[in-house]
Amino acid sequence: MTTRPASLTPEFLDSLVKRVPGSTGNTWKLTEVYTGDLLVELPQSSESDIVQACADARAAQEIWGSWSVKKRLGVMKKFHRLVIDNQMLITDLIQAESGKNRRMAFEESCDIPMGASHYIKRAPKLLKDRKHAGPVPFLSYSTEVRRPKGVVAIIAPWNFPFATGVSDTIPALIAGNAVVLKPDNKTALSPLFGIQLLEEAGIPAGLVQVICGEGPDVGGPMLANSNYVMFTGSTATGRVIGELAGKNLIGCCLELGGKNPMLVLEDANVDEAVHAALFGGFGNSGQICMHVERLYIHDSIYDEFRDKFVAETQKLNVSAAYDFLPDMGSLVSVDHKDRVVSHVEDAKAKGAKVLTGGNARPDLGPAFFEPTILEGVTKDMLAGSTETFGPVVGLYRFATEDEGIALANDTDYGLNASVWSKDLDHAKDVARRIDSGNVNINDILATAYASKGTPSGGLKNSGVGARHGDQGLLKYTDAQNIGVLKKQIMGPQGKQTYDAYAKQTQTSLKLMRKTRLR
Ligand code: NAD
Repeated sequence: MTTRPASLTPEFLDSLVKRVPGSTGNTWKLTEVYTGDLLVELPQSSESDIVQACADARAAQEIWGSWSVKKRLGVMKKFHRLVIDNQMLITDLIQAESGKNRRMAFEESCDIPMGASHYIKRAPKLLKDRKHAGPVPFLSYSTEVRRPKGVVAIIAPWNFPFATGVSDTIPALIAGNAVVLKPDNKTALSPLFGIQLLEEAGIPAGLVQVICGEGPDVGGPMLANSNYVMFTGSTATGRVIGELAGKNLIGCCLELGGKNPMLVLEDANVDEAVHAALFGGFGNSGQICMHVERLYIHDSIYDEFRDKFVAETQKLNVSAAYDFLPDMGSLVSVDHKDRVVSHVEDAKAKGAKVLTGGNARPDLGPAFFEPTILEGVTKDMLAGSTETFGPVVGLYRFATEDEGIALANDTDYGLNASVWSKDLDHAKDVARRIDSGNVNINDILATAYASKGTPSGGLKNSGVGARHGDQGLLKYTDAQNIGVLKKQIMGPQGKQTYDAYAKQTQTSLKLMRKTRLR
């Protein structure tokens, strides 16, 4: 019997959803995943609610955008402290709405202070005016001014609702924008609480709006009334968002799905690789965009790796509890569990072998599924080519490194990968040959993802653009170019003919190259 944390009172949950405009009159029944019990009725926003939310956000942005970067960062510093002070409550909310185990929910909540701290440090440099040389040496110069876009639409998935919803909001705000956030209906509570904390920290009222609804109902009006969209979700929806962004001529960043390989080379430390594969395959119940679904193991260590991996997987504590004991929790919903079941059944029907797992676990909760290891998965199987997004991995052998790399690249996705070897230099060479936006050496995902100074995004069908790094903040700005000419001397002067002017210009161009002035 799972006891829900005492912090999640009906009054508290009602107070969170009150900020969502809901003139449709419809509500979404937001449930506790472990039990299926109703937590709160979530209002659903109409088109006019969305138009109004964007207008209100735009009005608040005029105030926020006029504040100095230093003043905005003062608010972010306070927010950073508030998140840490409230981390256990945030963890309760994430767990209740997503069904993930508590360790993962806690680690998710750490993403916000880490990202905020990076940009608090980096933003003053990135957002300050930059002077560049003009076309006429000494007499001209140009200033690059970073202007906020205005209203940024942020659309977040359910798998890391707090991290994707709130973390992506932080650099957008620091850059001077307002945000209209659309969380997934299933997981709106933790982002709503994050926005409450931002208000407590001192953002102007109305600067961040939260609207809720089914994606296809809200996407059109949301993008028609915003100036940039940051989308995290499936590749299929990413294409729709990209089209809407094109239609409205606004920029977009699309962080999409993956089918991520783990490449274990001949000289890898097998025990470390096995230990990491447990998290890579089954962390967040396999619902991490960067998690592992394909494990390529060198022939010489395949049997040892497989036997240890199966044995360790069978020891995992899979259960519903609001403490730090379980290694793995639930899938997010019964619908999603059914999707995972369909991938496993399809693989079995087409000849794959189940080494361990393979079953739903209604005895643990309505959406639980066992950690599952398959052998003999082929590309004609759902689990072989499309993202399963559950605790299901396929094991494969490779004989030569070239073959392993070719297999790792044999996918339309390119989000994350890992290479395992004791020879770090060699592993880095292998990493460069993998078509993936993130590659971790001797780690699954955290080393690349949590390096907040480096851009992190997907190649191929895994995305457009990146979060983190300088571009993770600068993408929320437009560069304005203010050119200054101290004296009007461009073009022929006085009675100078154009022939003479052209010759003089050619000489100047040569000279400027020689002297490296331009
Ligand atoms: P999804 O694409 O179904 O939904 C994501 C969000 O988009 C939800 O809030 C949904 O309501 C909304 N949405 C759907 N259609 C929309 C539309 N037409 N207009 C506007 N919004 C719309 O994805 P999901 O199933 O919620 O999330 C899982 C997927 O997200 C997986 O593919 C996973 O790999 C991916 N993901 C990627 C990253 C990354 O950083 N690359 C991170 C987390 C999750």
